Amino acid sequence: MNNHVGERAVVLGGGMAGLLAARVLADAYTTVVVIDRDTLSGVRTARRGVPHGRHAHALLARGQHILEELFPGLQADLISAGVPAGDLAGNLRWYFNGQRLAPAKSGLLSVSATRPVLEAHVRSRVSQLPNVHFMERHTIAGILASRDHSRITGVRVTSEDNQESSLHADLVVDATGRGSRTPVWLEELGYDRPREDRVKVDLAYTTRHYKLKTDPYGTDLSINPVAWPGNPRGAFFPKLDDGSSQLSLTGILGDHPPTDPDGFLQFVKTVAAPEIYEAVKDAEPLDEPVTFRFPASVRRRYEKLRRFPSGLLVMGDGVCSFNPVYGQGMTVAAVESAALRDLLRRGQAPAPLEFFRKISPLIDVPWEISAGGDLAFPGVQGKRTLKSRLANAYMARLHAAATQDPTVTEAFFRVAGLVDPPQALMKPALVLRVLRISRSLKNGSQQRAAAAPTGSPV
Ligand SMILES: Cc1cc2nc3c(=O)[nH]c(=O)nc-3n(C[C@H](O)[C@H](O)[C@H](O)COP(=O)(O)OP(=O)(O)OC[C@H]3O[C@@H](n4cnc5c(N)ncnc54)[C@H](O)[C@@H]3O)c2cc1C
Repeated sequence: MNNHVGERAVVLGGGMAGLLAARVLADAYTTVVVIDRDTLSGVRTARRGVPHGRHAHALLARGQHILEELFPGLQADLISAGVPAGDLAGNLRWYFNGQRLAPAKSGLLSVSATRPVLEAHVRSRVSQLPNVHFMERHTIAGILASRDHSRITGVRVTSEDNQESSLHADLVVDATGRGSRTPVWLEELGYDRPREDRVKVDLAYTTRHYKLKTDPYGTDLSINPVAWPGNPRGAFFPKLDDGSSQLSLTGILGDHPPTDPDGFLQFVKTVAAPEIYEAVKDAEPLDEPVTFRFPASVRRRYEKLRRFPSGLLVMGDGVCSFNPVYGQGMTVAAVESAALRDLLRRGQAPAPLEFFRKISPLIDVPWEISAGGDLAFPGVQGKRTLKSRLANAYMARLHAAATQDPTVTEAFFRVAGLVDPPQALMKPALVLRVLRISRSLKNGSQQRAAAAPTGSPV
């Protein structure tokens, strides 16, 4: 251990953010303890503490890069375990604004593991670290603070048989997800709660698994018609490592995909990729549809607080929970863990406000992409600035151009995958390309409309 920072770090929550935190803390603390209320060992399916694990999850390109850096050989392990992999922009079939994007060879690898399978592989790597210990089936009941409340000194946990105990720690990292209790704990200790930014989307995912009788994929790994203002219904339809297919339907602003099998199938008919309905209408369903509701994207602005107790950090969904259709949460947890690693390399525990101020600009970009993108839907409440209106108008043209031009598709996925900054989409050569193609598409459709006999569909 080159940069020894302290004796014991305790991570609250053994989901993706908790595992990634444990990985970097293990380089700096003598012992790292990960506490979770669920059984984790050997689990490869969705568990009670992570009900969203039943629904389609994809790891963005930036997240793939960081995970590979933290766990060298992870991608190869996943692929050799049968997880389908391919080019994010070339082997995933994307529909934006109802149109299929031109496939591109971006060199951005997508390893299409389900959330529980990815988590199981990451957990297996973390559990091989000799100084990381898992405390399973323990519920976090509260935190311990110094008498003057200036420092967090540990946590209180309750076991399955209701035995309460305390665990002292030099550093506590809250990775309990969206339901994080840190705002409440802060208030109880006499601190302010963080301000929350919210974008209400009233989204639901409804997911069902199938054994298909036909192959709609060809060389593709997944078929993804993304919701857009013209049709706010979407789907993610990846093939899985066991040969089955997962169909997650998405609907916003209360238009939730139903859980009854007939309603579910009718909803499938309305998404932009007709091949999905064709593939599932006669397929063998492997389970009943299940729903997950996501009322709003929530960003807790810890970096704006003036006071915060030392010895406590928050990561992952507890800081920012993004509209999941943009697939950003796990990648942002990875970005945050890389930021924590950089701070720990100085050989001292990071001051919480310094940590929050370091990760805040890293959250800005994905937040702008997802919260800004949601404002393209007229029913989503929120302040539409000139910048957000222009950005959404440009993105509609860019998606139209990407239906014709793989260069545009690639540029888009490098930004959506959080590899390149959004400014990359504003490079003059790309802007000219987008405007030229979208103008020619518009002219083409106007000419077709003028040539069409009155009353006939265009
Ligand atoms: C429907 C849906 C689809 C998504 N799709 C994607 C996607 O495609 N790509 C992507 O990157 N992200 C996606 N996300 C987001 C992603 O799941 C999260 O951002 C990511 O997993 C990080 O979450 P986390 O580890 O912070 O919290 P969680 O995954 O919620 O994990 C929290 C952990 O804490 C434990 N815990 C909580 N409270 C307690 C307690 N009191 N005591 C003990 N243990 C406790 C839980 O058991 C759990 O293990 C999606 C989310 C949803 C809802």
